[in-house]
Amino acid sequence: MSNVDPVVNGDSGLDVDAVRAQFPILHQAINGKPLVYLDNGATAQKPQAVIDAVSDCYSSYYANIHRGVHDLSQRSTTAFEAVRGTVQRFLNAPSEDEVVFTRGTTEGINLVANSFVRPMLRAGDEILVTGMEHHSNIVPWQLLCDATGAKLVVVPFSDAGEIDPADVAERLTERTRFVSVIHVSNALGTINPVEEIIRLARERDVPVLLDGAQSAPHMPVDVQALGCDFFVFSGHKTYGPSGAGVLWGRYALLEAMPPWHGGGDMIKTVSFERSEFAEPPQRFEAGTPNIAGVIGMGAGLEWLMALGLDKVAAHEADLLAYAHDRVGALEGVRIIGTARRKAGALSFVMDEAHPHDIGTILDNDGVAIRSGHHCAQPVMQRYGIPATARASFGVYNTRDDVDRLVASIDKVRRLFA
Ligand code: PLP
Repeated sequence: MSNVDPVVNGDSGLDVDAVRAQFPILHQAINGKPLVYLDNGATAQKPQAVIDAVSDCYSSYYANIHRGVHDLSQRSTTAFEAVRGTVQRFLNAPSEDEVVFTRGTTEGINLVANSFVRPMLRAGDEILVTGMEHHSNIVPWQLLCDATGAKLVVVPFSDAGEIDPADVAERLTERTRFVSVIHVSNALGTINPVEEIIRLARERDVPVLLDGAQSAPHMPVDVQALGCDFFVFSGHKTYGPSGAGVLWGRYALLEAMPPWHGGGDMIKTVSFERSEFAEPPQRFEAGTPNIAGVIGMGAGLEWLMALGLDKVAAHEADLLAYAHDRVGALEGVRIIGTARRKAGALSFVMDEAHPHDIGTILDNDGVAIRSGHHCAQPVMQRYGIPATARASFGVYNTRDDVDRLVASIDKVRRLFA
């Protein structure tokens, strides 16, 4: 048995055939074999509901939003603004005014780094992250540290890929100004003990951002229950278009934050002497946004909520546990990341074959996985490997997909033996 502790094992109650039928892209052959798409950690495919929402926007009511008096502009504005309510429900946020639209997770983190954290940083202050962050939750903080003389403090993780909250507690000092943590690791699949980390940080009045890029697609997220201060995710991983994402933040914090980008749409008044900024969330949305992208993101989130995030989590947990058992049983294959609580991703290496060779041979069999460092080079360094092969799951994947994955890995093993 795998040591993965699925959220719920066995029958999730999800009609996966009906789900698959809604994804036109899945029904094609790659290299003569039916496509098995296992690169959901990088980006998810789009259901017809999302394709229709984007297409409907462009074919029937698209125009620039806000301030337009004409019909199309008003309809676009209404559809765009309605997505804030969708995100509010998706995250169980207290208010839709706390929902800032971004280009994605990366932009959300940079916005918080530059607008919220930067003004409070002094030389010697500390920002706490973990050793398993995606580059987008490392580099913005390094840039900030370089500019201010602050220090990036890194919480280590175990061989299994788990963070011990005691290691977090040990590194929270009176100089810690901010904690920014990956909720679910894209490279290892670990679900981090974020409730505990948030509790420890809040005891010391240190605000916390959760990088939800890999949690939002896979499990119910309740920002009020979590108790975090900021939560960021990307629409393209939650079955919506790329170039649209979300920063959720507590309103009192957003209200106190200066703008990061200046331009149209984020102001009340402008003169050459002085500009007065709009209230949040508009204060953080300078320029024309990705209008159809945000509308498509809203359709993706509505679609996920209609399926039920509990069912999605249960189905994917079953797949991941099954994949762990089957891939882990293959000779010459080592799973990287064996945490007890995992979601989404299964990383592995093979004795003989480089991950890029694995990816190429699997592609030949119509199985799409990702090979590389997954924008988490420090994770690779931690294990002393250059890269992993990663199969990452979405709601439309099945045990048959896992069987195809396993058969193809077995082929690699035989080829390289
Ligand atoms: N954080 C994590 C955990 C991710 O997996 C990713 C994308 O893979 C990102 C951040 C960056 O997301 P985006 O490229 O959509 O901004």
